[in-house]
Amino acid sequence: MKWTQTLIPTLREAPADAEIVSHKLLLRAGLIRKLAGGVYTFLPLGLRALRKVEKIIREEMDRAGAVEVLMPALQPPEIWEASGRAETASNVLFKVKDSAGRQWFLSPTAEEVITTLAANEINSYRQLPKNFYQISLKFRDEIRPRFGLMRAKEFIMKDAYSFDTTDEGAMASYKKMYDAYTNIFARCGLKAFPVEADTGVIGGNYSHEFMVPAETGENEVAFCEACGYAANIEKATSGIPKTGAREIGAAIEKFATPGVVTIEALSKEPYKIPANRQIKTLVYIADSKPVLILIRGDDQLNETKFAAKTGAVAVRAATPQECSDTLGAKPGSLGAINLQFEHLTGKVRDEMLEIRKHLGFDSFKIYADERLQGANDMTTGANEDGFHLKNVSIERDIKVTAWFDLRTVSAGEPCVKCGKPLKIRRAIEVGHVFKLGTKYSEKLNATFLDEAGARKPSVMGCYGIGVTRTLQAIIEQGNDKDGVVWPLSVAPYQVCITPLAVAPESEAMKLAEKFYAELSAKSIDVILDDRDERPGVKFKDADLVGFPIRIALGEKSLAKGEVEIKPRNGAVQFVKIDVAVEAVLALAKAV
Ligand code: ATP
Ligand code: MG
Repeated sequence: MKWTQTLIPTLREAPADAEIVSHKLLLRAGLIRKLAGGVYTFLPLGLRALRKVEKIIREEMDRAGAVEVLMPALQPPEIWEASGRAETASNVLFKVKDSAGRQWFLSPTAEEVITTLAANEINSYRQLPKNFYQISLKFRDEIRPRFGLMRAKEFIMKDAYSFDTTDEGAMASYKKMYDAYTNIFARCGLKAFPVEADTGVIGGNYSHEFMVPAETGENEVAFCEACGYAANIEKATSGIPKTGAREIGAAIEKFATPGVVTIEALSKEPYKIPANRQIKTLVYIADSKPVLILIRGDDQLNETKFAAKTGAVAVRAATPQECSDTLGAKPGSLGAINLQFEHLTGKVRDEMLEIRKHLGFDSFKIYADERLQGANDMTTGANEDGFHLKNVSIERDIKVTAWFDLRTVSAGEPCVKCGKPLKIRRAIEVGHVFKLGTKYSEKLNATFLDEAGARKPSVMGCYGIGVTRTLQAIIEQGNDKDGVVWPLSVAPYQVCITPLAVAPESEAMKLAEKFYAELSAKSIDVILDDRDERPGVKFKDADLVGFPIRIALGEKSLAKGEVEIKPRNGAVQFVKIDVAVEAVLALAKAV
């Protein structure tokens, strides 16, 4: 390809709304352009790199025994209603209407479509196992699209879906995909590592995410260098000890705490109650109903864990008004004792109870973090503004509905597997594999007849890779002050030939054309910078776009019978003209 023939609109400065380095470089190197927030055009070079990522994914999926299909982006809502996700995934669904007023959903993923297909086309154990994949546009109504391709409203995903007759079979399919993902990211030059993950709205019971370490990543991962344990913070647990009981079993005592509304304030003079002897009571609205969540004063609630453990779909913190409608007090004085407003009397109390009943807030579950199990000598809000209760024994005094691990782990806590201190780092999720079980096959009737003639639901798995996000993660990991540093495997062009004189009859240009033909014949992707520009401009652009190898043909070195070869990440070498192509080929193997 000749530079002047294609379109590489490099920029000196990135637009102000590009915050992270990879987003800036995607724009500056002329790889993508924004049409609207979260919606991008791929320019020729960006598309070439994207196609290379896709090719690697296809090869590895094919090798793992998956077969490619292409499903529609327009999906009828009925199948989403059948799976139950019309509601649970409603916040990300793009809904469009046709001219007859009929509604459609734009595919954010395709479990419903593939399961419908399997329901119609697969009938016997003889047809199983099967794994179908596609690489296609996906649409998600992200509230905050940001960081370019990282969180877009429209993006390319590879999604695969496996169907097996047994759980063991499904596990084997999962393992194949897990291994394929490891190969895919390695071939893309990415340092990605698998972590245990929450299953979210997709459902299922077993899942890993593939994470690329990056300060700008939207995920936090807890990991142990000693034993290799690694989990998304939304899922991670630690071996931290429970709070434990102290000796005393004294009766609850109410005491005045005027103006005290934080854990910290209660831990100071004159109260001096350490955060680890306090119970933090949070009111949440889970699927429209209030719930109480109890967590130790020095711990943080993990909302994803809470949703996963209780099966709640829509979870949010209650407003101060909802807190007082539920418990009769404002945040800062809330507790799971005195739930019937016992401190009030007569009409006031009756009215409060009446309002609560009217709102449907009068029955609520109490979920407590396991770290509080067995704890006594605790302090908690009295459900009366300006008062707290001490000598609280959680199991004696509070009717806990269920105990779960609900807290967020912190760095330095002992690893749940080996006890060594955990570390926490930020990371980008590039892929996600799920063992789904029979959730979708049961709801959408994807069944088969087994050897004995019994009808059973297929055991499914699903496996996603954010293809466009992966492309950007490669840049987030591979860059320097001058621009992108591509791995050879996905670079838009592997070699950039830069003649410093571009007149067709010049020696530099003739030689450039010759190298171009010879390298192309060896299946190297080459671009020839035929622009009539100053050398500085050409070199800067080549570094910005990040071609792994550059060959410069300048008058001075040509006069000595040499050309200049520079790996993007290495030093300039002067090489005799007649061995230049070999030298590039050798480098192309090495870089
Ligand atoms: P996230 O937690 O980042 O929102 P997700 O867990 O909802 O992602 P999945 O449903 O697991 O995403 O989708 C599979 C893959 O698609 C993800 O691992 C990610 O790489 C990619 N992906 C998801 N949402 C987006 C998006 N808005 N823009 C670009 N890629 C995305
Ligand atoms: Mg995910």
